[in-house]
Amino acid sequence: MSKTRIVIIGGGFAGAFAAKHLRKRIDKETKIELINDTNYFVFQPLLPEVVSGTLNASDAVTPLRHMFSGIRVRMAEVRSINFDGRTLNIVQGTKKIPQTVQYDQLVLAMGQKANLSILPGFEDHSFPLKNVADAHALRNHIIECLEHADITENKKLKKRLLTFIVAGAGFSGVETVGEISEMLAKTIKHYPNLSAQDINCMLVQLDKRILPELTEKLASYAHEKLSKRGIKIYVDTAIDAATATSAILGNGKRIFTATLITTIGNGPTELVKSLPLELKWGKIQTDEFLRVKGLENVWAIGDSALIPIQGLGNLEYVPPTAQFAVREAGCVANNIYAFMHQEQLNEFFYKPKGLLASIGNYSAVADLFGLRISGFFAWVIWRAFYIAMLPKFFTKVRVAFSWLLDFFAPRNIVQIQNKEQVSSCKYMHYLQGDVLFRPGQICDGLYTVVTGRLESRTVRRQGEDFVRIIKAGEHWGEREIAGDFETVSTLTALEDTKVLVLKRDVFNKLRESIPAMNKYFSQIDDHRNKIKIAH
Ligand SMILES: Cc1cc2nc3c(=O)[nH]c(=O)nc-3n(C[C@H](O)[C@H](O)[C@H](O)COP(=O)(O)OP(=O)(O)OC[C@H]3O[C@@H](n4cnc5c(N)ncnc54)[C@H](O)[C@@H]3O)c2cc1C
Repeated sequence: MSKTRIVIIGGGFAGAFAAKHLRKRIDKETKIELINDTNYFVFQPLLPEVVSGTLNASDAVTPLRHMFSGIRVRMAEVRSINFDGRTLNIVQGTKKIPQTVQYDQLVLAMGQKANLSILPGFEDHSFPLKNVADAHALRNHIIECLEHADITENKKLKKRLLTFIVAGAGFSGVETVGEISEMLAKTIKHYPNLSAQDINCMLVQLDKRILPELTEKLASYAHEKLSKRGIKIYVDTAIDAATATSAILGNGKRIFTATLITTIGNGPTELVKSLPLELKWGKIQTDEFLRVKGLENVWAIGDSALIPIQGLGNLEYVPPTAQFAVREAGCVANNIYAFMHQEQLNEFFYKPKGLLASIGNYSAVADLFGLRISGFFAWVIWRAFYIAMLPKFFTKVRVAFSWLLDFFAPRNIVQIQNKEQVSSCKYMHYLQGDVLFRPGQICDGLYTVVTGRLESRTVRRQGEDFVRIIKAGEHWGEREIAGDFETVSTLTALEDTKVLVLKRDVFNKLRESIPAMNKYFSQIDDHRNKIKIAH
């Protein structure tokens, strides 16, 4: 007789804890397999601390293979699901080899992904914070801003580099702005040309108040504490768009910044979008037993699921938090067991014992068993709670040790970054009047106008300025990047303009390898040289 197979997609809070509970609950004859696209579990609530350098990136993750025994862990990406045939199509390995996996019971726990397409320019000019790579990229970027601000003599640029905006003031937004502000306060002394007054941290929230998950009193305590530390908080304010140089608020105000961090806008993963299911708000709808509507052997938990709940204030659906995901994991394991043994299924219900949010600077706000506490004591409880929740003893030890060390050691401001990994092809959005280049700068790539217009103006010692208008489909920078020349012109956006930037080394490689492309740019070089001689 073939063995029953339970397959879990997703190794986050929901999927990893479901695997643990299932292995304890279900007999060893039943095969349990967990499929995740990375080989580690991410403790997302610690990501703001990875950004600020309190923790190392490796502290916030645990190898999935260390977390369980008796479970097959497969690092692969699930591309599609055939519910009728009870199979998954996956791709695995460096060559992305397609495979088919069969299941009898399936748990969907794919979480959500940052949806940056919700607002213009966010995809190209904002930083999400969903995984370790995001945290690492943001941390490197903040250090880059400090390094650059310390050496520039351009005051406007310095101000922009030292303005940090966080969009969204839920738990993750508040924790992120608190951590970044603390990091900046602790590191600024290492930059002799910068002072605390130069730093501008902002939190922008669409709601009427920050931390809507907490009581008004605790939220206003957090608001007051953050404000006292110099963080500017804008409530009842939307961010409408992002450009290469600024964030545009709903009231039309333009804030020049190099760092816009978004904690708003989550959406379904590609897999969830591809499923033949009716999604609501981008989520998989389940019944009260966590079973996907219309499918008796498929279950959905965690952030990717929309789970109805009753008796939790006026909430209709379970909130997308780690606390809930872990409880759903326990419930789904019990219900799969019950289903396999033809027993009664249990409705999912959980009432959180408390809510905690760290606001940085050894301070937190907490609502525990109805008791509202704030300040240092709340912060100690918050840390103890996280240590208790972290999987595996050595992860706990590593995190506790890093926290202890942070009391005494200076913050690490090492920027470990492979320059080649910085996006080699990206869109940039500029508003009318934005200056992209000034004479004397080194051009970093080929700038092709997608929409809008740019003006390249070269001031001559004698005679009129040489002006070239670069329209949609035309490009700028090919001469400069070919020879590592300093730019001689000022490049300005004549109107709101979207540009595709192809980094210098990629452009040069393409030009070298594609004869038609080389011919095209060689002709342009010849043409420009003739104009130069004529002038
Ligand atoms: C910065 C931040 C701070 C937070 N702070 C808190 C907090 O203080 N308290 C709290 O309770 N919650 C907090 N949360 C929310 C909490 O982390 C999430 O609710 C929780 O992680 C959801 O768990 P999940 O398992 O549903 O999804 P995830 O943890 O996102 O896991 C989903 C997994 O599925 C994988 N996956 C997706 N698609 C596929 C596929 N096709 N094939 C294979 N694998 C796939 C993903 O790679 C991922 O590993 C925070 C979140 C963030 C981002």
